[in-house]
Amino acid sequence: MKAILVTGGGSGIGRAVAQRFAREGWRVGLADIDAKGLAESAALLPAERVSTHQMDVRDATEWEHVLAEFAALSGGRLDVLFNNAGIAAGGPFGDIPLDALDRVIDINFRGVAYGARLSHPYLKATPGACLLNTASASAIYGSAGLSAYSATKFAVRGLTEALDAEWAADGIRVRSLMPGFIDTALLAVPMAGSNRTAREAVVGSGLEFTPVETVADLAWAAVHGDRVHTLVGPTARRLAFAARWMPGRL
Ligand code: NAD
Repeated sequence: MKAILVTGGGSGIGRAVAQRFAREGWRVGLADIDAKGLAESAALLPAERVSTHQMDVRDATEWEHVLAEFAALSGGRLDVLFNNAGIAAGGPFGDIPLDALDRVIDINFRGVAYGARLSHPYLKATPGACLLNTASASAIYGSAGLSAYSATKFAVRGLTEALDAEWAADGIRVRSLMPGFIDTALLAVPMAGSNRTAREAVVGSGLEFTPVETVADLAWAAVHGDRVHTLVGPTARRLAFAARWMPGRL
């Protein structure tokens, strides 16, 4: 039985991707810092093929423990690591508190890098394995107002491309998802300088949300396809199109 470990599996995109792979008969490991979210996600999946692993992706020791724990359940297989846990951090970069800056860098990039580095032996030992990282449309070009977030997602994009080339020799494919706006808990963050949440700002701007089920279908396609980056939704496609015509690009 194929096996996927999903970080951020207690909510949003991670939960939907877990459901998608479970529907295909895969074993699913849900990893998240949030115990309540983990229990809610697990309740949606077949009990005999799901396990929950409470962890903080910023902690390398917890990664080692969870990867070993999941491998013990999956017969050593790790067909996909979905490196997806992340947080938003908005507002002017000149005002961002340093602890908030550290937090977004640590969760969105250090967590992804630890996941990639520490899962490597398991992915290498599983024929046809894939590392799928959640980047963002904010990794297409620098998003003003989301500078720190955007920078962490550029780092995820860079790591994805570098590892896809580097790990081809190990038979591991490395992919990223670049979602536009998905209506999840992530968008509940307040926008700086306004009393609106990010979700309200998206709705107010007339921008479209992509259903989380579509993201899950695209995650399935990304894992099985040749494209390194998968754009998700109209916002991501529009940004990618605009980026081709932006002055000052290399
Ligand atoms: P979400 O808030 O619903 O889910 C994020 C999950 O990550 C939560 O369950 C949370 O508990 C978990 N998490 C946070 N910090 C953690 C930590 N230190 N260790 C372990 N788990 C932790 O949001 P989502 O929209 O499903 O986000 C998933 C990914 O998608 C993120 O990387 C996000 O940046 C990316 N993304 C989201 C959107 C969007 O519009 N929602 C757009 C582009 C990219």
